[in-house]
Amino acid sequence: MNTIIVGLPGAGKGTQAERIVSTFNIPHISTGDMFRNAIKNETPMGLEAKSYMDRGDLVPDSVTNGVVKERLAQDDTKNGFLLDGYPRTIEQADALENILSELGRSLDTVINVDVDPSILMERLTGRFICRNCGATYHKIFNPPTVEGVCDNCGGTDFYQREDDKPETVKNRIEVNLKQSAPIIDFYREKGILNTVDGGQDIDDVFKNIESILNNMK
Ligand code: ADP
Ligand code: AMP
Repeated sequence: MNTIIVGLPGAGKGTQAERIVSTFNIPHISTGDMFRNAIKNETPMGLEAKSYMDRGDLVPDSVTNGVVKERLAQDDTKNGFLLDGYPRTIEQADALENILSELGRSLDTVINVDVDPSILMERLTGRFICRNCGATYHKIFNPPTVEGVCDNCGGTDFYQREDDKPETVKNRIEVNLKQSAPIIDFYREKGILNTVDGGQDIDDVFKNIESILNNMK
């Protein structure tokens, strides 16, 4: 199953992706996670990406498309993948078409997690992440069952993303709002867009997504 999850920052892509990849056993390919790892490892690509990410701007397509091309060429994507956070521009959507056609593959479906932009600031500024396993929580909407302990791995060390500060969040939402409509139209015209209401509870959003993906099998 070759799938993309799209939506504005804070729509719930990463949260749903965690569930999708464990239910359907496909790799989760998040460009944001790949950039954060590169920054952590202080690679040249990470250093380049960091300046854009710190402002909430998009990393240039020349860098991002190369990262995705390299990742999709790896063997573990042969039986399917879930792309998260890519494509974010029409140029990236075109590049993805080329990458997949070179690999002899095509997309099966695009899940669009649709939310009212007015809720995103609260979702992003309340987000925190387990440092050990990367599981995502929210201080109000999705806290761990036992306070201070990760449900997934038992870890007790959590962090907030640098770019989840209110000043950066504002720019990220604006940048992504501008780019998102053409991407959605692009996949709608291809007849592979499935929109879910991302304003529902996390469990209900997942039920919707699961039923879409089960129908693809
Ligand atoms: P994205 O990957 O799209 O940027 P996340 O999955 O990281 O978004 O979710 C952003 C924040 O909102 C996280 O703190 C997450 O726990 C919370 N969240 C995700 N989905 C929902 C939902 N349906 N209702 C309320 N909060 C949610
Ligand atoms: P995310 O984790 O998806 O919220 O992405 C965090 C940041 O990484 C974004 O604000 C961008 O700076 C960068 N980024 C992630 N994916 C892309 C992409 N497809 N194109 C350009 N920049 C990206």
